[in-house]
Amino acid sequence: MRVVNTVNEVRKEVKEWKKQGLTVGLVPTMGFLHEGHASLIRKAAEQCDRVVVSDFVNPTQFAPNEDLESYPRDIEHDMKICEESGADLIFHPGVEEMYCPDFSTYVNMTGPSDELCGKSRPIHFRGVCTVVSKLFNIASPDKAYFGQKDAQQLAVIMRMVRDLNFDIEIVGCPIIRESDGLAKSSRNTYLSPEQRSAATVLHRALEEGRKLAESGEKSASAVIAKITEIIESEPLARIDYVNVTSFPEIIPTEEINGSILAAVAVYFGSTRLIDNFILG
Ligand code: AMP
Repeated sequence: MRVVNTVNEVRKEVKEWKKQGLTVGLVPTMGFLHEGHASLIRKAAEQCDRVVVSDFVNPTQFAPNEDLESYPRDIEHDMKICEESGADLIFHPGVEEMYCPDFSTYVNMTGPSDELCGKSRPIHFRGVCTVVSKLFNIASPDKAYFGQKDAQQLAVIMRMVRDLNFDIEIVGCPIIRESDGLAKSSRNTYLSPEQRSAATVLHRALEEGRKLAESGEKSASAVIAKITEIIESEPLARIDYVNVTSFPEIIPTEEINGSILAAVAVYFGSTRLIDNFILG
């Protein structure tokens, strides 16, 4: 496994692989890797001959008031996880390698990016779509792997690939959780011990919401109310949103029918965590 910092090094390596007829999988990450990322890398290694992991905290998807500076970073630890999970190449660029000082081209979407996190983080998906487009152009993967942990992001990338004719298959992968149900996230490291134990309310609330929907409840409001009530019972939790939308269109829906996404974003102190389930 190699770690490279420049676009040209990735292109050179991938060109060599393609010449040999090998397929390439890409796993975009912001680093500080955990078992959730490892599951994506393993899936990519199962399905592709070579795996590129990008490890880059992308500044354009953070608003000025967000956690860009404090976002955890540990490339040595990431190298170990990548190696163990079957990656062949880590692309770990500096900001200046990805963004020229006069960078001025962005991928803007409407639709799936407008609701949920798009409301609370208005520039977030513009940054995500822009950096993922760049990574697609840099690594030319056959397949790219995204976690359902960020279900809206998965929907946004699927829409972008369809709309802009990227010749890349998007593979969605299930949410990996801690043993107490909390979805694994690099941001969990921000939590105090009290917040960490309070955060288990998210999975508990979503499981109750899922049970309600699976038992035949057709009203999205009833499911939202159930999830909200359980989260609100935890004093350390402050809700950003609880919502139900169609998936992958991400259109808010009143009727639970077809494929739906129930998604939450909740603050514990200044740490904002997201979680969800998909039905149908
Ligand atoms: P991030 O480094 O947080 O930007 O995440 C990189 C990729 O890993 C995204 O596609 C995430 O959805 C995915 N991911 C993060 N946490 C998990 C998890 N707990 N389970 C599955 N996938 C995850």
